[in-house]
Amino acid sequence: MRLRRITARRSSVHGKGLFALLPIGAGERLIEYKGEVTSWRRAAARQRSEVGHTFVFGLSSGRVIDGSRGGNSARFMNHACTPNCEAIETGDRVFIHAITAIQPGEELFIDYGLTVAGEITDDIREQYACHCGAPACRRSMLGGRATSL
Ligand SMILES: [Zn+2]
Repeated sequence: MRLRRITARRSSVHGKGLFALLPIGAGERLIEYKGEVTSWRRAAARQRSEVGHTFVFGLSSGRVIDGSRGGNSARFMNHACTPNCEAIETGDRVFIHAITAIQPGEELFIDYGLTVAGEITDDIREQYACHCGAPACRRSMLGGRATSL
């Protein structure tokens, strides 16, 4: 039987987080980020009724994976501006890989890098504020390469 390498539990950063249970090597594939592929706008509207968590992952196409619909524990990954994991797109699927070696007990982070279609209002800015505390923190989970439709 394969041992579970990661688990979701309470995070000191925000809500629940995803944590390593076993040592993880750089480059290892950890989990698929599952959920419904939808538009950012639709996912953002859902978020408002689920305050306190961001369950969306931005795809390079400008669409997002909404982990609140049919998602797995990957949706609990918190954002950090200097993350230890990265998401690699393969077609319309996304897999989380470790960037660096990770020790048991460490929380796993990705850079959400969300792209917002249209104007970034104060409301949106507030909703996606980052508090990761890294020296390079850009104070936002948004990728800063905003596009308009
Ligand atoms: Zn940050």
